[in-house]
Amino acid sequence: MSSSNTSSTILPPATLGMLGGGQLGRFFVAAAHEMGYKVWVLDPDPHSPAGLIADRHLVAGYEDYAALDELGGGCAAVTTEFENVPAGTLDYLSKFIPVHPAASAVAVCQNRIAEKSFLADNGLPHGPFAVIRSEDDVRHADAGLFPAVLKVARFGYDGKGQARVASHDEAVAAFQHFKGEPCVLEKMLTLDCEVSVVLARDEAGTVRCFAAGENRHRNGILDVTIAPAQVSADLRDTARQTAERIAEELGYVGTLGVEFFVCGGGLVVNEMAPRPHNSGHHTIDACDASQYEQQVRALCGLPLAVPRQHSAAVMVNLLGELWYADGKGHGAYREPDWAVLHAVPGLRLHLYGKHHARPGRKMGHFVVTGEDADEVLQRALQARAAIGIRDE
Ligand code: ADP
Ligand code: MG
Repeated sequence: MSSSNTSSTILPPATLGMLGGGQLGRFFVAAAHEMGYKVWVLDPDPHSPAGLIADRHLVAGYEDYAALDELGGGCAAVTTEFENVPAGTLDYLSKFIPVHPAASAVAVCQNRIAEKSFLADNGLPHGPFAVIRSEDDVRHADAGLFPAVLKVARFGYDGKGQARVASHDEAVAAFQHFKGEPCVLEKMLTLDCEVSVVLARDEAGTVRCFAAGENRHRNGILDVTIAPAQVSADLRDTARQTAERIAEELGYVGTLGVEFFVCGGGLVVNEMAPRPHNSGHHTIDACDASQYEQQVRALCGLPLAVPRQHSAAVMVNLLGELWYADGKGHGAYREPDWAVLHAVPGLRLHLYGKHHARPGRKMGHFVVTGEDADEVLQRALQARAAIGIRDE
C-alpha cells in the first residue's frame, strides 16, 4: 500500500471502503453509489447485505491483514457500520488512508465499561452502574442497584448478552452464565420513554443533528421509531446538546447514534453507536439528506448537509419471526405478504436481501411518512398489524 493519510476532499468516482456488510452498510453503499462513488465492503459473510450490492466484496475477517492491505490499497478512505470492528484494524488502516470514525472513538462505544467511564469522566448524565470483572465485584455491588440488568461489556446487541437480575445471587449466576466476561451492572430504571439522536460531525467540528426520535422496543429489540419524538422541545434540545457534546469529546467524525432513557422527566445516556443507527432509517424517506449520505459526506470531507425533515415519519422494523406461519418463529417458512404493505399510502418498504430469516433478525423495515404526526403513527401501526406483527 502507498502511504498517505492526509485529509483532503475525496470526490467521485473514488472508491470508499466499508468495514461490515450489514443493512447499515448496505444503505451506505446505496447512498455512496447515488453520489457517484464506488464502494468495497469487507465482511466475512459471503451473503452480507452490503456485500451483495458493493462494487467489490472482500469476503474476509476483520483481522485478515492481507485483505486489509487490499482494502487500504484500493480505497480512498474507510468507514464502518459495525461497532465491533477491532480497534487495531482501524488503527492499522489509518496508517495508510483516512479512517472515520477513528479507532479511539469506536473503542469507547464498543465497550460498555469504557462507554460508562467516558460518560462519568465527562460529567454526562448516565444511570447508576458498577463495573464487574469478578464475582467479588458482583457481591460488593451496591444493593441499591437492584433490580438491575447485567450486560456483557462487549459484543452485546439487540438485548443479547443481557440478564435482568433481582439480587446479588441472581447477578452471580448471570455473571457465571456469561463465563466471567467483564460486564456492567446497571440499575433497572423506570422509563417514561426512550429517545435517540443521530448526528454527523465533520473534521472541522461542524455538527448536524437529525431531530430526536422516540424508540419503542419489543423483547429488547427496536420495534418502532417515531420521528420527531413527541416529547417537549426542552427535552429534544437537551438530547441534541448532550449528543453534540459526546461527539465533540470523542473527536468524532462520521455519523453517530446516541440512545437516551427518559426517566422522571429527565434524560440519561444509555449508549452510543459509532455508526448510523437503526432509529435513523427514516432519514432516507423523510429528510433532505439521510444519515448515510451524511456518513459519506463526513468521510469524504464534503460539507455536511443541513438535514431538514420534510415529513413526519414512523419506522417499523421487520424481524425474522414474520417469515414463519405463526408470526412468532414457528410453523412453515414463508414470505410475508408484501402487497399488504405496498397498498398503504405513503409507505416505503426496505428489505435487506438477507438469505435466511431467524426470529429476532432484522430483515427489513418500512417507513410511513405524511404531514400529520398522529395520523402517520396510526397508519404505521395499522400497517404493522396488517403484515402480522402482534403484541403479546
Ligand atoms: P443493545 O445494545 O441491545 O441496544 P441496550 O443497553 O440499549 O442494549 O438495551 C436494550 C434495551 O433494553 C434498551 O433500549 C431498554 O429498552 C432496555 N434497557 C436496557 N438497560 C436498561 C436499564 N438500565 N433500565 C431499563 N431498561 C433498560
Ligand atoms: Mg441500545
